Amino acid sequence: MSFDIVVVGAGLSGATAARILAESGKRVLVIEKHKHIAGHCHDYKNENGITIHTYGPHIFHTNNKDVWDFVNRFTEFHYYQHKVLSYVEGKLLPFPINRDTLCEVFGVNIATYEVEEFLEKEVKKSKFNNPPKNFRDVVVSQVGERLYEMFFKNYTIKQWERDPEELSPEVAKRIPIRTNRDDRYFSDKYQGIPKHGYTKMVENMLNHENIAILTGVDYFEVRDLFKSELTVYTGELDRFFDYVYGKLEYRSLRLELKTYDKEYYQPVAVVNYPNDYDWTRITEYKHFLNEKSEKTTVCFEYPLASAEPYYIVMTQDNMEKREKYMKEVEKLEESGEYIFVGRLAEYKYYNMDQVIEVSKEKVSKWLKE
Ligand code: UDP
Repeated sequence: MSFDIVVVGAGLSGATAARILAESGKRVLVIEKHKHIAGHCHDYKNENGITIHTYGPHIFHTNNKDVWDFVNRFTEFHYYQHKVLSYVEGKLLPFPINRDTLCEVFGVNIATYEVEEFLEKEVKKSKFNNPPKNFRDVVVSQVGERLYEMFFKNYTIKQWERDPEELSPEVAKRIPIRTNRDDRYFSDKYQGIPKHGYTKMVENMLNHENIAILTGVDYFEVRDLFKSELTVYTGELDRFFDYVYGKLEYRSLRLELKTYDKEYYQPVAVVNYPNDYDWTRITEYKHFLNEKSEKTTVCFEYPLASAEPYYIVMTQDNMEKREKYMKEVEKLEESGEYIFVGRLAEYKYYNMDQVIEVSKEKVSKWLKE
């Protein structure tokens, strides 16, 4: 069979690209290394009717209406606002830090209009680089050393096995600090969980007469067999270039699932454990879709150095290597024969909506040229 386009990877970036190209009349072959589609947002229903996210919790959130409209073509969404508690000094406290967190931690009773001044006093007592140079600086400049040490320092050391001063400020910018009582993890306009799961959503995206899918096949072993006018690559950036500029670090997770004979394990979907235990967080899956069962399945997340690549690691060294690889990417993209997109291929700490946005943009631009 001949194809116009080869898409490497059947995750969100690959599925978005494949769909848009297929709808424009191109014949698309998707090659996926795993035996399943949907990449790292893959999910499945377990024996108790609870939807498990195979690679850890995924919550869809975006402010981009185009992206929201796009995903809504392939699934209905269950209304869900993500809430996280952090286990600190024996208490479950709202996280990201908000006014209620401060009142609990400091045993004070302050109003929203007083929070800024309260935090300023905490920051004044603290030492940090101004302007901020790293993860620690960003957090300390917002909330001061005491709260940094309670909620951020040890979680970050556990997650990245790095001193937070080695990590880019970008990582800290993922977490807002709130002066009001809003206890949602994300404040985006559109939020939810696909009603029938992410796998079904991606299956629907790929369900098009112009799309063929090969799963369980490593692109690098078959690449010479397929000629195409365009290759959309969503795999690891360094591997594509045979590691010429050295290995980029990707971090992984060991996810331990446990099922308990009780209705609920914890009050919200995710509880973070910055200072205690070896895991970083526990997810109780049934909260996402409000699934009913007499049992509950939870997932303990243990950070892991390598294995399945989940995260990019935003240190100076990795980001410098990235720059070199991305110069090669630019050249290939200019030739019109390749598009690199996604967390792994662009070595960027993207969220799901950003991956869809960039994939749509890059492919639409290619189609116009
Ligand atoms: N973080 C933290 N304490 C927390 C939660 C997050 O210090 O309780 C830091 C940590 O460095 C983490 C980063 O913020 O890696 C980003 O957190 P996010 O929840 O966005 O991580 P993800 O969901 O991508 O694993």
